[in-house]
Amino acid sequence: MSQNCLFCKIVAGEIPATIVFKDEHVTAFRDISPAAPTHILVIPNRHIDSLHAATETDQSLLGHILLTARKIAEKEELEASGYRVVLNTGSDGGQTVFHIHAHVLGGRRLSWPPG
Ligand code: 5GP
Ligand code: ZN
Repeated sequence: MSQNCLFCKIVAGEIPATIVFKDEHVTAFRDISPAAPTHILVIPNRHIDSLHAATETDQSLLGHILLTARKIAEKEELEASGYRVVLNTGSDGGQTVFHIHAHVLGGRRLSWPPG
């Protein structure tokens, strides 16, 4: 656990969150400030700063994050309407919490390109 990391604290249960899925490797919880009817964050239980801090050794974990995002989309019944999975990375990417997380967004038409 990385000290003073908000998402490590959520994994540890020190900060409450609405957890929708958890296993040995990942935790998924609802975003506190949802940008869409479904807005869930999927994070690894082990701290990694960002996608850019990930290495070859994280390959299966990154795959697991994506497949968890897929599973969540299915649970939220987003299959037919579609959804978006986003990894904001670094400052221009809009990353504000430096514990890697995949946003799963759905339930409304999302515009493209992003603002
Ligand atoms: P980023 O901007 O880094 O890609 O995304 C961080 C996300 O974390 C934001 O969408 C923000 O609303 C969410 N967030 C920030 N603090 C908390 C919190 O304490 N609890 C939960 N559930 N989400 C949070
Ligand atoms: Zn962390």
